Amino acid sequence: MASQHEKKPHAVCIPVPLQGHINPMLKLAKILHSKGFDITFVNTEFNHQRLLRSQGPGGLNGLPSFRFETIPDGLPPPENKDATQDLPSLAKSVDETCSGPFKSLVNKVGAFYSPVTCIVSDMLMCFTLDVAKELDIPEFLFWTSGTGSLICYDQYPNLLEKGLMPLKDPSFLVNGYLDTVIDCIPGMSGIRLKDIPPFIRMIYPDDEYMAQFLISQVNRAKTASAIIFNTFNDLEPDVLDTLSSVFPPCYGIGPLHLLENSIEDNSLASIKSNLWKEESECLTWLDSQAPVSVIYVNFGSIAVMTKQQLVEFCWGVANSNYPFLWIIRPDLVVGDSAMLPPDFVTGTSGRGLLVGWCPQEKVLNHPSIGGFLTHSGWNSTLESISSGVPMICWPFFADQQVNCWLSCNKWGVAMEIDNDVKRDEVGKLVVELMNGEKGNALRNNATKWKKKAEAACVANDGSSVANLEKLVHHMQTSSN
Ligand code: UDP
Repeated sequence: MASQHEKKPHAVCIPVPLQGHINPMLKLAKILHSKGFDITFVNTEFNHQRLLRSQGPGGLNGLPSFRFETIPDGLPPPENKDATQDLPSLAKSVDETCSGPFKSLVNKVGAFYSPVTCIVSDMLMCFTLDVAKELDIPEFLFWTSGTGSLICYDQYPNLLEKGLMPLKDPSFLVNGYLDTVIDCIPGMSGIRLKDIPPFIRMIYPDDEYMAQFLISQVNRAKTASAIIFNTFNDLEPDVLDTLSSVFPPCYGIGPLHLLENSIEDNSLASIKSNLWKEESECLTWLDSQAPVSVIYVNFGSIAVMTKQQLVEFCWGVANSNYPFLWIIRPDLVVGDSAMLPPDFVTGTSGRGLLVGWCPQEKVLNHPSIGGFLTHSGWNSTLESISSGVPMICWPFFADQQVNCWLSCNKWGVAMEIDNDVKRDEVGKLVVELMNGEKGNALRNNATKWKKKAEAACVANDGSSVANLEKLVHHMQTSSN
């Protein structure tokens, strides 16, 4: 079996088993495939079943040179087969149980298809570094989140030393303490305590595990062959410089969806990574709306809110009087089903469309979209910026607070909404974003970033195109 692909490099790609990590890893895998790599893409068994359900049988049929394999995540199957798994439990289970199955899998595909020449792993899956070392295979790590959060994690010892963290109890969350500006994070002057990833602010026990987990992953990552980022040089020149001085060679090759769109061979185009069933009919509805008239609302794959927060968002969006496309995941509301107030649904019928999961990149590129009310996940942020769409940010956790701060303060493409969301504020911000003076200035900035993102990925001399070439060369030569 090994003869046919003997000379090709073979990359085993393994994402963190979460939507926002699988998406960019699949894009990277497709891009590497277009550069001549054999690909083995590793999902957890739980997610593989979800992908099959959401895409129908055949949805994951790859090619002989691009195949899917699975390993168990070590958790008992949840009752709800489409549930987002509990994050700290998943991180702990994967870190403690996946190493053995992963090593066996790398050995198996190496023997059966062609020798594995590199492992491309999510940077939060650092158990793979031990496997790579044991098998003497170079490992390239992919940081799929915002780079700003990585700097914060790396600066954690500094924040501890200065006594800024950890916050010991919830009293720190009131009286404006979190508005304290800190000046010790390189390239982020003006950032407030509230913008630091909540995991390392540590008030709750779960966060303590996540803080230790994240810090250990970031430290272990320093032994990898290189780090890959889904960003582009123009967007974050200082951050990339800072990271390059601390980590192994860094390659900013984003936005990956733009590089993916320029792949000429589209034999893998039908393979998608949605864990929920995509309702692409919403694009037809968008076709019937006026240009730059629709506010798009989507809080990603993990963020949850209380029933009251959902109600406030509903009436805020309704009171803005703008048409809206709103993605409501069934598990959006903590401990409850995501039921919208019935009078909101009837009162806005005809003006709004509610769906469970959409093709977000296409939605953001639709001419009718005028603004995005988002949780500031990194993929959503990058997709919005590279579509020229300004945002209202309601960051939930992880890197989202930093992404929000960068979007508002460095790139000038967003406005932040208070965590304690109130309908009047939502309504006012939506009106401002869609057609106010500030909203139009943000849209102009977003349009400029869109052009720069395209230049990084489309032009022959674009920085991400050039960085990708260097990365591919590094991958091809490091296994010799
Ligand atoms: N996404 C999508 N359709 C939806 C919601 C999200 O395709 O209805 C995609 C979105 O384009 C992005 C990813 O899911 O690529 C979400 O990642 P992000 O980092 O924004 O947030 P997370 O879900 O990790 O919090």
